[in-house]
Amino acid sequence: MAANRQGAGVQAERATDVGARLSALLDFVLDRNAFHRRRLQGLDLDAGAPFNELPPLTKGELVDDQAVHPPFGTNLSYQLGEYVHVWQTSGTTARPLRVVDTAGDWAWWRELFAHTLTVAGVTPEDRVALAFSFGPHVQFWASHEGLEEISAMAVPLGGMTSVQRLQTIADMAVTAVWCTPTYALRLLEVAVEQRLEAALESVRLVICTGEPGASLPGVRSRIEEGFGGRCVDHAGLTEAGPFGYPCPEGHGLHVLESEFVCEILDEDLRPAPIGQRGELVLTPLRRFGFPVIRYRTGDVVVNTDERCPAEHEGRWLPGGIVGRTDDMVVIRGMNVYPSAIEEAVRRESGSGEFRITFYTEPGGMDEIKLEVELDEGSGARHLQDIMRQQLGLRVRVVPVAAGMLPRSDGKARRVVDERVRRSP
Ligand SMILES: [Zn+2]
Repeated sequence: MAANRQGAGVQAERATDVGARLSALLDFVLDRNAFHRRRLQGLDLDAGAPFNELPPLTKGELVDDQAVHPPFGTNLSYQLGEYVHVWQTSGTTARPLRVVDTAGDWAWWRELFAHTLTVAGVTPEDRVALAFSFGPHVQFWASHEGLEEISAMAVPLGGMTSVQRLQTIADMAVTAVWCTPTYALRLLEVAVEQRLEAALESVRLVICTGEPGASLPGVRSRIEEGFGGRCVDHAGLTEAGPFGYPCPEGHGLHVLESEFVCEILDEDLRPAPIGQRGELVLTPLRRFGFPVIRYRTGDVVVNTDERCPAEHEGRWLPGGIVGRTDDMVVIRGMNVYPSAIEEAVRRESGSGEFRITFYTEPGGMDEIKLEVELDEGSGARHLQDIMRQQLGLRVRVVPVAAGMLPRSDGKARRVVDERVRRSP
């Protein structure tokens, strides 16, 4: 048995093509990992149960497992002593999930971040400012490692105000800024308020992550105009790894299919039709310590069979992440994604921060209110018409004065749900 175990591990690490990597991964988890062995029990993998019949995995299952087996759960393929990093997911609603990495798995993160940076055009000559706090979330640490891997300089901006960050960017002639799209817009706003626009002169690239924004054309063009540089997007999840690298020519994201089995599924967990939205479901092929198989990311993407304009390797997600399954709200039978409303707001000239409130009218109908900071003379009515014509949504647009709505230094919280819950 011991020799067998060793065999599965070595085989999994050495496999090169996708099919071999996948079957080695499945052999490995059945052999080593109590969590997956329990889940896949009864499915005859040896008899070739098709991959797409394996049950998709949710974050809730991992969280529940950790509640029953604290603190790390049973999704551990090795003894605890083999693990060198622990992360917490940033979950805004559910309990946080702890995810652990071995040195080998961390090397995999590093390699994939280095790939993302290379595609984004970052070189050893760059000084890249990381506008994140040094927290229990994987993003800052993996960004730092990726920069080291390609020999670029990391400039940490944790524990600073936005003004101090602008000053640091200017003092060190930073060439790239890495942050959430919400924070990129916030930094621009502070630069204008404080008359520090010149601080951003050396910046030629903004790398965005953590939110759908940077793949929305309206958001991207605002960032690019404000910084006078290019804006690229990338995406990752603590549970699944850094799966999305930017397409500098076609925009949106790519998934490296040598590293991830990528599926896009509809609400019934069947492949989403071409041209339709679906949930991204991923299987990272080389993360062995905390493996996930057919993991439901909660990220909504568009399923296309087109190659990107630059013919890059791997599946193309044309609009990047277009929303989150848990962001979607059904209003009067229509699926409403806050990111679609954001895109319309960002395209409206003279618009600033915004807040979306879903609420129930006294008559019982669910409605949408959009508060948006608008310059005088900018059109609330125009925005209302756009929502109706382009999104088919009736939205009450309420203009508010600049600076009235809350700002965020990280991921934005722009959606308020005040709908009355009815019993079924
Ligand atoms: Zn591409």
